[in-house]
Amino acid sequence: MWHSPERRLADLIIPRTSLQQRAGTVHLVGAGPGDPGLLTLRAARLLRRADVVLHDSLVGADILRLVRAGAETIDVGKRCGGHRTDQDDINRLLIDAALRARTVVRLKGGDPFVFGRGGEEAVAVRAAGIRCEIVPGITAALGAAAYAGIPLTQRGVSSAVTFVTGHGCTEAGAAQVDWQQHAQPHQTLVVYMGVKSVGAFASRLIAAGRSPATPAAAIERGTQPGQRTIVATLGELDAATAAAAITGPALFIIGEVVALRSRIAWFERRPLHGLRVLVARSRPQPSRLARRLARLGADVIEAPEFEMLPPVHTDPLDDALLHTHDYDWLAFTDAAAVDACWDAVHRLGRDTRSFAHTRFLAFGTATAAALARHGVRADITTSTYAPWSVAAHREELVQSLSSRLLFLRAEGPASPVAAALRDTGARVDEVVACRAAARSDQHDAVRDRLLDGRVDVVVFASSNSVRIFQDSYGDSHGASAGAPRIAAIGPATAAAAAARGLTVDVVAAHATFASLIRAIRD
Ligand code: SAH
Repeated sequence: MWHSPERRLADLIIPRTSLQQRAGTVHLVGAGPGDPGLLTLRAARLLRRADVVLHDSLVGADILRLVRAGAETIDVGKRCGGHRTDQDDINRLLIDAALRARTVVRLKGGDPFVFGRGGEEAVAVRAAGIRCEIVPGITAALGAAAYAGIPLTQRGVSSAVTFVTGHGCTEAGAAQVDWQQHAQPHQTLVVYMGVKSVGAFASRLIAAGRSPATPAAAIERGTQPGQRTIVATLGELDAATAAAAITGPALFIIGEVVALRSRIAWFERRPLHGLRVLVARSRPQPSRLARRLARLGADVIEAPEFEMLPPVHTDPLDDALLHTHDYDWLAFTDAAAVDACWDAVHRLGRDTRSFAHTRFLAFGTATAAALARHGVRADITTSTYAPWSVAAHREELVQSLSSRLLFLRAEGPASPVAAALRDTGARVDEVVACRAAARSDQHDAVRDRLLDGRVDVVVFASSNSVRIFQDSYGDSHGASAGAPRIAAIGPATAAAAAARGLTVDVVAAHATFASLIRAIRD
């Protein structure tokens, strides 16, 4: 891979030291303004591939989650006033990373070349003889304007748009911008880093001739679940920003186009916008309920996080894996079961050859992909893990399943899928390959949220989720003023919550997601 023809050609053109020849590439990547859906495909691909990721503090956890496990992540976030990592140090870190890793991603909020010092980083990296590529991102002005329902230009209303910096920290900084030039009507002005200098730049614009009646908006945490927008006149913008306690990240849009928001706003009008919901999890898979709540505008966290551990008793798994020749089929419920199986095989001093005579049934494409990572092609891949997915392959299975099948799965209640397999005539041995356990190292962050009153509603979709939630955080919430409301999917779950000392505020009329969501909305 290090000797591709393009690379040798490049080395002929730009003479390099041998260290530089072996160096990786630095990608300056825009992460967009917050909503992970606004990431480019190229950015997502690079995050999954990167060996080292250096990111700003503005980049959210939802996006960092795309970084592959095992990659090194470095937070070089800078805060106004208190510099966390100096720009020279960041440049040096980038170069160091490229000298020891192949793919280095410098992930920056918004777009790297808009008030992001991306230009300086690119120059420093190139000066060190290291390859540098740039991936644009949606800059905060574009993201925030779209999600606030403010077109930046509009025929007959505004024919130009300018991005300026309010120079965040000091009032003196605002003096560096020629406000006179931006005081003309029929143009839109977007001010980045202006929360501290809003009073200063608003009065300069007015002094330069822009009407104090010009509509203006402040948008905080644009495109994120907690987005807030306030609209005021330019003359009142300072007071309105202070009254709303806008802290940031926030930007200001000034111009006649702001008036269009009253007709276009959509993001903040979604039924659950801004509602901070904790969906109590009972299993590691991401929940459909959480996804649906987020689509309706809720600011959702799922907790606790889970990790996969070996079963408490490994004997049944070891025994089955030492006798794989007794089976015609190995069936895997999910990727975790696949990985657990190979861990056990290696622990037993064996390798993939143990499965030479066995066929593989993977439930879902992610499970098949996990098998592929271990060098095995699944003979059957179902579309999902559900009893009906067995029925969909019935013909194929009936022919070949007159025999024995080893069903490897995570610990849990009896599986209806195993029952469906038995219905096809197979002899099915169910063996627990792994078990999900709540990750206690993440408990503190969730406890802090609950204690600080940063959760409005806790949602329980099963009795099991009540038990796991109370075991994890039972000591961190109660009847205090900021305590969250409790919502339960049905009477059984509500009873389980009550039995655990929780006061249930909302119970769904029917035990379905739709009914639960309706109850929360009401
Ligand atoms: N390179 C970034 C800008 C970095 S400067 C970009 O292209 O967006 C940081 C400033 O960007 C903040 O002070 C704020 O004014 C603005 N900003 C960043 N994210 C924002 C968001 N989600 N909502 C509103 N403003 C944001």
